[in-house]
Amino acid sequence: RKVREKKPPWLRSRMPSGEHYHRLKDTVRSLGLSTVCEEAQCPNIGECWSGGENHTATATIMLMGDTCTRGCRFCAVKTSRTPGPLDPNEPRKVSEAILKWGLDYVVLTSVDRDDIEDGGASHIAETVRLLKNGETPILVEVLTPDFSGKLNDVSTVALSGLEVFAHNIETVESQTRFVRDYRANYHQSLRVLEGAKAAKPSLITKTSIMLGVGETDDEIRQTMRDLRSVGVEVLTFGQYLRPSKRHMKVREYVTPENFDRWKVEGEDLGFVYVASGPLVRSSYKAGEFYLKTILN
Ligand code: SF4
Ligand code: SF4
Repeated sequence: RKVREKKPPWLRSRMPSGEHYHRLKDTVRSLGLSTVCEEAQCPNIGECWSGGENHTATATIMLMGDTCTRGCRFCAVKTSRTPGPLDPNEPRKVSEAILKWGLDYVVLTSVDRDDIEDGGASHIAETVRLLKNGETPILVEVLTPDFSGKLNDVSTVALSGLEVFAHNIETVESQTRFVRDYRANYHQSLRVLEGAKAAKPSLITKTSIMLGVGETDDEIRQTMRDLRSVGVEVLTFGQYLRPSKRHMKVREYVTPENFDRWKVEGEDLGFVYVASGPLVRSSYKAGEFYLKTILN
């Protein structure tokens, strides 16, 4: 059941528009790709798909099925201990479809697959390799699971040819056990980000924090310092929104002014790029941010 909580005015979503957006929407349907942008009814779809000022059209594709072995309290994805085997043809089918689509920047993400030996690392890496070996140039970001902290699996993905390695810490240390699945762990996520950078120092590493789940300002500052200490360069802040009554409650609606303040504090701490706003999501206009980051 959908939640009908009274939301502040800045959370009213905008309607997607733009010729490029409509063309992409028709193409994606004919290619049979499943995008997180559409599945999650992301309010940023118009901006991301139309490419913004740098014309870097971005979309997020989900790999490894629609069922996760974990059950985070903020997440609307289905959960099962035994989600079924991976489709060995998925890397080829998905990479071909993405390249036909004509995106400039793709974010590959996935459910967590604790039931698979390498957590799906080689499956993800193969998809990246096929994308990068195609004839059409494309920039690739992968938003990864934590691979239960196994750094071999982190390296497999980090060395696959991608430009940006993203893994979401989601929240501050004290709230982690109330927000994320019991197998996730704040320090484990820091180690994953550190391990990716160690495997390939030229990679850009990126993470996201949801605000409004019970964190304090000082805890946000500490989390930013912890992330900087493992070399994370790009950070996004967004508002937690409750997908249904079964999910955890919103503790606070953070104002747009406070989101702006976090952007400034983050940049002062040395992040190369901080995207911060109520509707900002991990992959929000990721292509534009990438260009701005490397041009810095
Ligand atoms: Fe959702 Fe990811 Fe948590 Fe799975 S691991 S429940 S996909 S947030
Ligand atoms: Fe898609 Fe992410 Fe942009 Fe939303 S923010 S439209 S999920 S790429």
